[in-house]
Amino acid sequence: MSASAPVRVQHLIGGEWTGSPAGERRNPARGDEIVAEIPSGGPSDVDAALQAAQEAFPGWRRTPAPARGAILMRAAELLAARRDEAARDLCAEEGKTLTEATGEVQRAIDILRFFAGEGWRIAGESLPASLPSTHLYTVKEPLGVVALITPWNFPIAIPTWKLAPALVSGNTVVMKPATLVPVSVQNLALALLEAGLPPGVLNIVHGRGSVVGDALVNDPRVAAISFTGSVQTGLGIHAAGSARLARVQLEMGGKNALVVLDDADPEFAASVAAQGGFGLTGQACTATSRVIATRGVHDRFVEALAREAEAWRPGDGQAAGTRMGPVVDRSQLETDLSYIDVGKQEGAELVTGGDCDDLFLCPAVFTGVKPAMRIAREEIFGPVIGVLAVDSLDEAIVLANDSEFGLSGGIVTNDMRAAMRYADEAEVGVVKINRATTGVDLNAPFGGVKSSSSGTYREQGNVAVDFYTRLKTVYLGT
Ligand code: NAP
Repeated sequence: MSASAPVRVQHLIGGEWTGSPAGERRNPARGDEIVAEIPSGGPSDVDAALQAAQEAFPGWRRTPAPARGAILMRAAELLAARRDEAARDLCAEEGKTLTEATGEVQRAIDILRFFAGEGWRIAGESLPASLPSTHLYTVKEPLGVVALITPWNFPIAIPTWKLAPALVSGNTVVMKPATLVPVSVQNLALALLEAGLPPGVLNIVHGRGSVVGDALVNDPRVAAISFTGSVQTGLGIHAAGSARLARVQLEMGGKNALVVLDDADPEFAASVAAQGGFGLTGQACTATSRVIATRGVHDRFVEALAREAEAWRPGDGQAAGTRMGPVVDRSQLETDLSYIDVGKQEGAELVTGGDCDDLFLCPAVFTGVKPAMRIAREEIFGPVIGVLAVDSLDEAIVLANDSEFGLSGGIVTNDMRAAMRYADEAEVGVVKINRATTGVDLNAPFGGVKSSSSGTYREQGNVAVDFYTRLKTVYLGT
């Protein structure tokens, strides 16, 4: 397959595309293919973007919410018409398979459609007033200029699930996409502009997180910051934003456990674990990275999971039949390989995988994992699953909850009572019974607990609008 010319990525400031190439992004599956040329913004670009967003706010706020939604709907249709091209761009910049990339672009289209509809529904409530001839009601107002800071692993879905509720609520936006994946956000912006989004309502500044992200987070013009990424970065953003009373939403890492009980079919349980752990090359915040299996099924499960791992051979995501793409870059590969070494040194047994050719890493399965081991506690963000053996459901729940993280968790069993007890007691934001820990519906609230999230607001579903609005209470005497 021949490579196309690199995409020229630019900042979007006040409706103008600006900035000269300062760096490039290469296809992780084909190191000689330059996917994009990217500018590297600085504080002056952030300043200009914030000014444009501030100037655009009064007009956008006055635009009726259904009319704002209509622009999102048009953008959805434009993106749908270019879905395959956008999926190829996403595949080339991030490395996931074309099937996964197409699903992700479709997700972005569906999110735009969903929040277009919310434009008809964003509502306050009417309340009984204590005084006669008085109307008492609430309205949901936009916050002003919001900053959206996004990670590399879902290059179009995460920007869209922040942007759509922010825009339909009447906010203007400055977005800082992850440096590794600049093209998908540009494709999203092109669709929105062509759909009629006024200049300055959406601004994008590319560049290093420590420069562009930091400037955004610390600017008093930013009323709210929605961030998805690592705990380390998130904590810094929380401290800076909260210190000046900006509203802050953080969604961060996970160490997601899948419990497998004795009654489970080991083949089915292994397919659920592999989908969660090796799908998206394990580079999902909701990826299965621990399996906690009761002893009656443990050995049969591990055999089945090893067979699964061997079937998930990595390859070029654009090639037909590839099930798992490469690791996103060398730095993430080094992290994955270092955890595989740590697991061996800590005394866990590597059953299969862990070898790599360039960025193509074979999925790894460890057994004999103990709860105190680093591979049982720290987020790896790669295709590595550690299996822990336990005696009972009680012990499985204690171990599943023995984590600083709490994003998603799953259980494989046909015992409804055990499944519902797990659903009740799991300290996570999302519980999956007989389904992979990854993959969520766009109409359902999504977010974590403990160190996985700031825990204050959920993303996705109609509740996503709550972060981007505040309630005003109005008394009207007649
Ligand atoms: P990251 O390194 O924390 O980066 C996330 C974003 O923050 C990037 O745009 C990054 O810019 C920017 N950034 C870096 N330093 C910053 C600073 N000082 N101030 C402001 N912004 C800054 O995370 P990542 O490696 O891209 O993503 C992987 C992590 O995201 C994993 O922990 C994963 O679990 C988590 N994640 C969570 C969810 C969820 O919904 N819970 C979903 C997906 C991913 P640069 O790209 O320029 O560094």
